[in-house]
Amino acid sequence: MAQEITFSFELFPPRTPEGWQKLPALVQKLASVRPAFFSVTHGAGGSDQHGTYEAIMQVVEHSGIEAAPHLTCVGSTRASIAALLQRYREAGVKRIVALRGDLPPGLAPDEAPGEFRYASELVTFIREQHGDHFRLEIAAYPEMHPQGVTPAQDFDNFRRKAEAGAHAAITQYFFNADAYFDFVNRCEQAGLKIPVIAGIMPITNFAQLARFSAACGAEIPRWIRLRLEQLQDDKPALLDFGLDVVTQLSRTLLDNGAPGLHFYTLNQSEPTLRLWKNLALPVPAAA
Ligand code: FAD
Repeated sequence: MAQEITFSFELFPPRTPEGWQKLPALVQKLASVRPAFFSVTHGAGGSDQHGTYEAIMQVVEHSGIEAAPHLTCVGSTRASIAALLQRYREAGVKRIVALRGDLPPGLAPDEAPGEFRYASELVTFIREQHGDHFRLEIAAYPEMHPQGVTPAQDFDNFRRKAEAGAHAAITQYFFNADAYFDFVNRCEQAGLKIPVIAGIMPITNFAQLARFSAACGAEIPRWIRLRLEQLQDDKPALLDFGLDVVTQLSRTLLDNGAPGLHFYTLNQSEPTLRLWKNLALPVPAAA
């Protein structure tokens, strides 16, 4: 039987009381197209780590759809991670995105961010403690992690992390489909069988995208950068152009075998839902 293609949505814990107030409506809107799951970030961009558990509970309450917390090594101890895993398990969570995490400002790339140094150690720990209870997703970087030393070493580190017991990988966003297919080829050549879900970033704001991309090592191709620069004072035109670019990219990925798309919603429903509509993705009936 052909593998089912999965579509999932990523949220972050709101940073303001207004954001928390709007969260139920946001979740309900996004849930209308029945994604396979929602994930919620944890301390992303080196931000504080509050709110992931609470946001996960809100997603479950307002959508009934599976919710996956991100869990990171940053500031962790074995005891704190064990306690958090237990809390999630008792709340019915069955899926976790296991990461090292963005390093807080001031921490050098070679310093351990917590008792666990790399995501591979976190994956090993979760599997040791909980066997197969949690489905584990890990991060992948088709264009190499920004702190990667060489593409080969970075891929070896990814392989080690996958072999520690991950079920699937979700990529950093990218705009070069070839980088994704090259990464999938390297997985196949290395005998890795886990699905590599493509991370998709809707384009809505040039300055923000340029900032994120500089930090996470995602290349904005010159032709896209130039068009976005030119359109940055014409929001509707920028949104239309961004939608075309990301629709085309997503279509290419799906047509050539990507097993799923994970949308970085940035807590906005419209860009992701427009993309969903443009791609004519299915809207399954509620369970
Ligand atoms: P790792 O796989 O541990 O890799 C980190 C770096 O260490 C890489 O350069 C790798 O090559 C190197 N490395 C790995 N193992 C070894 C080893 N044994 N020896 C030497 N070097 C090694 N960040 C957050 O803070 N919160 C989030 O919620 C969050 N969500 C994300 C979701 C997705 C889908 C993605 C793609 C990223 C997310 N991030 C998040 C960002 C991520 O945490 C950062 O990119 C972080 O710098 C790396 O995390 P990782 O899990 O990929 O780390």
